[in-house]
Amino acid sequence: MITDIIQKISSETGMPEDEVNDKIEEKKLELSGMISDEGAAYIVAKELGVTIRKIQRLNIGNIITGMQNADVIGKIVKVSEKAFEKDGNKGRVMSVILGDGTGTIRLSLWNDEIDKFSGFTRGDTVHVRGFVKEGLFGPELRLGRYGTLLRSDETIQDVLERKTEYERSPISELAEGQHRQIRAPIVQVFGGNIFYEICPVCKGRAKEWKCQEHGDIQPEYGLVISGIADDGTGNIRIVAFNDAAEKLIGMSKFEAKRLFDMKKKMEAVIEKIPLGRELVIDGRVSRNALFDRMEFVVNGVSGIDMKREIETLLA
Ligand SMILES: [Zn+2]
Repeated sequence: MITDIIQKISSETGMPEDEVNDKIEEKKLELSGMISDEGAAYIVAKELGVTIRKIQRLNIGNIITGMQNADVIGKIVKVSEKAFEKDGNKGRVMSVILGDGTGTIRLSLWNDEIDKFSGFTRGDTVHVRGFVKEGLFGPELRLGRYGTLLRSDETIQDVLERKTEYERSPISELAEGQHRQIRAPIVQVFGGNIFYEICPVCKGRAKEWKCQEHGDIQPEYGLVISGIADDGTGNIRIVAFNDAAEKLIGMSKFEAKRLFDMKKKMEAVIEKIPLGRELVIDGRVSRNALFDRMEFVVNGVSGIDMKREIETLLA
């Protein structure tokens, strides 16, 4: 990952990459070789006033809708681009499928963002930093204003191609590690804090109006909903973030925040959430080590599509 750090230093300071490299080598000598290349790179970055966030790399198979801060290394397996027109405005969108040994994900690049892809081609490995939204085909990576798309020096051998459509399963048969679809109503939503603070600059977690890197900030809010889904065969605790959470509770996070702010009580939001609606929920079964129980981490939510339901029954 040292190439990422060098690229970041270079792009923020305008210093050519080989010069940054020399500085890192000098730093290692200065410290009598007591430090790794990466460690030296962090120090050089700091001295030049460039902030490097510690990279928390995600396996592609673990990406879920609503993540605000996703670091992903993937191999480019497919690229397509098309022009579109919406409300009289012309635009372009590029779809890049990235994969690793745990799955694949779509990276959508819009208009000027497409320039960041120049020089890349199928088979290259890239490091993407961005956020995850629910797209037409499930979760998709977006760069947004602060995202980056850089070359990675890692080698990814095999890419696990995953079916875009999740296999339907009764809750009683869910097992750890599976990506599955369930059809069930939400029968209970837990209270407690459903909002968390996000730094508007780096999209990292913030606490009490402070970001570790950016100091005092006016936070944006993320939404996390947990509850119980029950399909008659069994029940499971479900957890959903942001876009997926909004769909699950049938209201936007702004609406939820408004309800909360009016009464300063979480119940004001919880009581407005309609329970018992049949939903089709895609997600991943994961073990919560802290509480030693299974959870269904929601990836996407849709209402019941009767035509599709009948086809599923007949299949
Ligand atoms: Zn921040």
